[in-house]
Amino acid sequence: MAAHDSVERKYVYDFAEGNKDLKDLLGGKGANLAEMTNLGLPVPPGFTITTEACKAYLTTGREPDGLAAQIEAHLESLEREMGRRLGDPDDPLLVSVRSGAKFSMPGMMETVLNVGLNDRSVVGLSAQAGRNDRFAWDSYRRLIQMFGKTVCEVPGEEFEHALDEIKRAKGTHNDLDLDADDLRGLVDAYKKIFAKHTGREFPQEPREQLDLAIRAVFDSWNAERAVLYRRQERIPADLGTAVNVVAMVFGNLGPDSGTGVAFTRDPGSGAQGIYGDYLANAQGEDVVAGIRNTVPLQELEQLDKTSYDQLLGIMARLEEHYKDLCDIEFTIERGKLWMLQTRVGKRTAAAAFVIAGQLVDEGLIDLDEALHRVNGAQLAQLMFPRFQLDHEFEAVAKGIGASPGAASGKVVFTSARAVELAAEGEAVILVRRETNPDDLNGMIAAKGILTSRGGKTSHAAVVARGMGKTCVSGADELDVNVPAKRFTVGDHVVNEGDVVSIDGTTGKVYLGEVPVMPSEVVQYFEGELDPETTDDALVRAVHRIMTHADAARRLRVRTNADTGADAARARRFGAEGIGLCRTEHMFLGDRRELVERLILASGEREREDALAALLPLQRADFIEIFREMDGLPVTVRLIDPPLHEFLPPLEQLAVNVAVAQERGEDVAKEEALLAAVRRMHEENPMLGLRGVRLGLVIPGLFAMQVRAIAEAAVAVVRDGGTACPEIMVPLVGAVQELETVRAEAERIIAEVVGDSGVEVLIGTMIEVPRAALTAGQIAEAAEFFSFGTNDLTQMGWGFSRDDVEGAFFWRYLELGIFGISPFESIDTDGVGRLIRIAAEEGRAARPGLKLGVCGEHGGDPDSVHFFHSVGLDYVSCSPFRVPVARLEAGRAAITTTGSDSR
Ligand code: ADP
Ligand code: MG
Ligand code: MG
Repeated sequence: MAAHDSVERKYVYDFAEGNKDLKDLLGGKGANLAEMTNLGLPVPPGFTITTEACKAYLTTGREPDGLAAQIEAHLESLEREMGRRLGDPDDPLLVSVRSGAKFSMPGMMETVLNVGLNDRSVVGLSAQAGRNDRFAWDSYRRLIQMFGKTVCEVPGEEFEHALDEIKRAKGTHNDLDLDADDLRGLVDAYKKIFAKHTGREFPQEPREQLDLAIRAVFDSWNAERAVLYRRQERIPADLGTAVNVVAMVFGNLGPDSGTGVAFTRDPGSGAQGIYGDYLANAQGEDVVAGIRNTVPLQELEQLDKTSYDQLLGIMARLEEHYKDLCDIEFTIERGKLWMLQTRVGKRTAAAAFVIAGQLVDEGLIDLDEALHRVNGAQLAQLMFPRFQLDHEFEAVAKGIGASPGAASGKVVFTSARAVELAAEGEAVILVRRETNPDDLNGMIAAKGILTSRGGKTSHAAVVARGMGKTCVSGADELDVNVPAKRFTVGDHVVNEGDVVSIDGTTGKVYLGEVPVMPSEVVQYFEGELDPETTDDALVRAVHRIMTHADAARRLRVRTNADTGADAARARRFGAEGIGLCRTEHMFLGDRRELVERLILASGEREREDALAALLPLQRADFIEIFREMDGLPVTVRLIDPPLHEFLPPLEQLAVNVAVAQERGEDVAKEEALLAAVRRMHEENPMLGLRGVRLGLVIPGLFAMQVRAIAEAAVAVVRDGGTACPEIMVPLVGAVQELETVRAEAERIIAEVVGDSGVEVLIGTMIEVPRAALTAGQIAEAAEFFSFGTNDLTQMGWGFSRDDVEGAFFWRYLELGIFGISPFESIDTDGVGRLIRIAAEEGRAARPGLKLGVCGEHGGDPDSVHFFHSVGLDYVSCSPFRVPVARLEAGRAAITTTGSDSR
């Protein structure tokens, strides 16, 4: 039986009723105002209208039942507490109406100050402030301005112009020079602007002002810029915003009043100290608006030592309480300090590590929590080379840091020109309004990509990230003129061939070439910086947290490496073996000719000769790699790509043949190659004759590779080393394929290894969906599985990576079909499900089956957490991602109650 819903929903919370963990309901600002209130800090009284009320309003288009009455009740108790009534003509209570969603969305939504002022209460306010007419009229003009702009959509510039005009008439740039009469005149001008745009007079009824302002804050959740920002930052669209109604305190009461912002540590570097700005005789929005120059917070000590000391005390208290960097907003009213906001502050990647380390030193958090507070994306960012910026370089524009890195080069405006100049060895930056799939070649040729339009999910951004190429998108100060081959920014004109530098992390654009310096974090990983003795705080912090991550993690981290050099570097970066050694490069360069002989072989004899010539070359490659990875497992994948990939392209061969014939040269070989390429042509090479299929079709090919691996291992062991080879068969879809390869391989291995003690494992990739679904059968013939998540994603979704990323992914991201490219981060619902099934059924059939993953997902933070949860033994990723995978594997293994500090 459904109970009658007689209990009304609670939509309004007094600050004393909330706390910091109620961000979902009260928004970040409201929850933290409540927290500070309950800590006994000086917060002006007020109440919060919940995000539930906002959501109800946004879905139905009207305030939910009961909200008005609850606001009334809370307003009355606020009036009682303050001993004043809202807008009372003789002694008015004024309030601010402030937005505040769960996640901070700086500058996206609205705040209105001084609500409750009208033609009569402005007089009362003056009297209350000791006949301070200037202050009262200044507050009133601010109300009309903010209310007009945010509640009634009056263009803000009109108010700005009116203010400028009065200042000009007065011959001043400083609004402090305006006296009460000036400001009264300004109020009149503002009211006219208001009436002109809204068709009504500025509302005089205080309660109407309040209700309209609350409604405007609700509506601001769906303002265009807020929608865009949320999409950019992946903030869900259905959270809604809370509304805070706060008793006004006044920073514009005179020189002994003011307003400011502060951080408890430097959010840029993490350094300890006091960071902030202060502006005397001003209301909150002036600090950010940059109307007057702020002074460094330290100078407040001279201006008002009591408030300054109290502020420092509160900042220390907040850090201790939140156990993290806090940022705060405060106001001083005639020597009395008021706290208006706090939150766990945003910070740079470097500061995140440094602060986490400091907080451990201070005993505020433990190492698990420190590890939880940093992430792989930040670490990856710290591993890019950086611009070495000094005073000489000033950014001329700032767009969105769409794909990290630092790049300098000559400006080009077309894909063709980028390709041309790059071929001449020039570094180029491709500049476009926005890119499209036709720009792909230019993007590949360029060192960096700069666009004046588009966000983090634009074509340019998505494709650049896929390529690991530096990109700044949406630098809208740039006026790009492609036909004229130039762009303008401010007073600068930049022509084709001029050099610019772009920072894909900060989104900044510089004119000229900015020198680049290596990352100190990479120097540390390379062993060039000793973390025990360096005075680099970042390196010390990274070392400490990485050490903890290594101790905490269950997942092993291997690397994808095909050469001794890559293997060595990855080992320095902490790799615990090779998870994927591709053998295809061993068929390139001057060995191509042998592959051609293999393909063109007309009989068994010729084929065997070609393979015999390849054998020692492959063996030498493996020896080098096994030596570098001495004592650690090395998974070698038998040849995977279709053989025609090793032959010249059809068109080129056709031209060669034609030209040679023209000259009357002997073209027998070219003709044979051309015929072979024609014969081997595939409509869909991704799904063609490759992987294990090659091994089954071309006699002796896999056998030669297996022999080379086994002989290399024996050679290393004879030299006193330890080789742990694992042979991996690609593209298996049925156990019979693997069994066939395995039978032959075992025979060869037994023959080569003899009594050398070398042990060779044989396993398979799981990259064809059918393999995942028959993993129980396949495990009977495999000692290990390695998930090839690139192919598994391609075949799971039915699209080929090379063709689709540039073609339509940007559109899919825009439409939200996926939030991130499934090649970047594993699609846990679909592809992930295949992995889960294969892991479970494989282990059920063969307990102790070794499970790993190769493919770039192995270095992707979110994917690493998924692989941890599925119970894999290791991930394997490119050498550069190894530290990221170590860190994230550690983070996946710890459980903390840490807060969501987005
Ligand atoms: P934002 O989310 O954009 O920071 P806020 O709601 O924090 O907007 O308001 C901006 C500024 O307005 C505050 O930092 C503060 O200086 C000022 N302000 C807000 N409420 C009050 C108040 N009740 N009394 C005095 N100043 C206020
Ligand atoms: Mg604020
Ligand atoms: Mg594959």
